[in-house]
Amino acid sequence: MNNDCCTQSFSDSAIKSYIQTVGVAGLCDFCGSKGSSGTDINQIARFIDEGIGQKYERVEEHMAHESPEGGFQVGTLSVAEVLLNEERAFDEGLESPDSLADEICCNSMLSTGLVRRRLAICLGVTRSPKRLSTGGDVSMAT
Ligand SMILES: [Zn+2]
Repeated sequence: MNNDCCTQSFSDSAIKSYIQTVGVAGLCDFCGSKGSSGTDINQIARFIDEGIGQKYERVEEHMAHESPEGGFQVGTLSVAEVLLNEERAFDEGLESPDSLADEICCNSMLSTGLVRRRLAICLGVTRSPKRLSTGGDVSMAT
């Protein structure tokens, strides 16, 4: 089976422009569109890994930054969940975003056990006047 995916399958502009750059016009195995730039899903997964790696990290790395007595606990995400729920990376018209997400997840080096980087959380805090200590965000243990 050919596993080519095209720009039309995504809404994320970075992913779209990446596929545009490396891809060739062809039939998309996921959204079925013809003539849009597309490339192998494995190659797209590599690119997505890089992008996700800037915003998310493995829970093991994340835990290493926390004091063990902090009662730290956090729910982890898979690459599929990040793409589907956190980043909403797929085109809304895509018929089965789940199967594309699974396919990317299978090809991803990161795959599962992801949490948002601490840095990203902090950046979010500076933009919002609301203090995390009053909220339900479990990742700020201090
Ligand atoms: Zn497509």
